[in-house]
Amino acid sequence: MGLCNRGLQVHVAHYATSYLREPYDFHPDTHYLVRFVWLDRPTLCQTLDMKILLVEDDPTLGEAVVLATRQAGFTVDWSRDGVQAENALSGFSYDAMLLDLGLPRREGLEVLRNLRRRGKTLPVMILTARDTVEDRVRGLDAGADDYLLKPFSLDELLARLRALLRRAHGVADTQICMGRLCFDSLKRQARVEESPLVLSAREVEVLEILLHHAGRVTAKEAIADRLAGWDEGVGENAVEVYIHRLRRKLEGSGVGIRTLRGLGYLLEVGG
Ligand code: CA
Repeated sequence: MGLCNRGLQVHVAHYATSYLREPYDFHPDTHYLVRFVWLDRPTLCQTLDMKILLVEDDPTLGEAVVLATRQAGFTVDWSRDGVQAENALSGFSYDAMLLDLGLPRREGLEVLRNLRRRGKTLPVMILTARDTVEDRVRGLDAGADDYLLKPFSLDELLARLRALLRRAHGVADTQICMGRLCFDSLKRQARVEESPLVLSAREVEVLEILLHHAGRVTAKEAIADRLAGWDEGVGENAVEVYIHRLRRKLEGSGVGIRTLRGLGYLLEVGG
């Protein structure tokens, strides 16, 4: 881990009028809204020395992913179509590929199949808005290692990318544990010792953000932002509801969520 000076944090949300609030910049030519936030405090970031190929034709989303992955310490090449991607793959060596499916000149699935046909094993995460079961099966059958649905949070993209790389490098550490609670960031499952916790998808998101900030306060607004990539805007009252439910589900885990009035939430052992 190295220390980055001021960091640029990038948030991407699907276009919806409910998100049209400061400080979002509205990009009318795409379906995405991108918010750039300069962090005042120095942030920890990993110096990874890993090279990623991003294949994405949407300029706004592509720029946001490039910024976020660079900020997280990766080296990133960006191909805007399938043919460009294949040229990059044959000319350079990459540690992982983030692959959109709907691409100009050559479809993402064809790029993936050709890659696997050449015996290349680099981990591939598909980024797509296609969300039928058949689409996912087709992607995984073609040789994808993971699948992330648009719109996604960049935090989740980075967490999954790191997990993918750890797995590819033979480190099976996709788990975050605290007290008797363990969370598997690949399977998106939490358990207390051997018993799985039954959590909704949004509760999983909230738990993950709290775990990533363990020992630090997570602002209510940060949780609302994380959930804002979902189908509708999430108000801060909704965040309170998710926290309330999570708190009940975490009873007996040895981990609790403390409310710090006016500041946010703190996940701590023994709460
Ligand atoms: Ca596309």
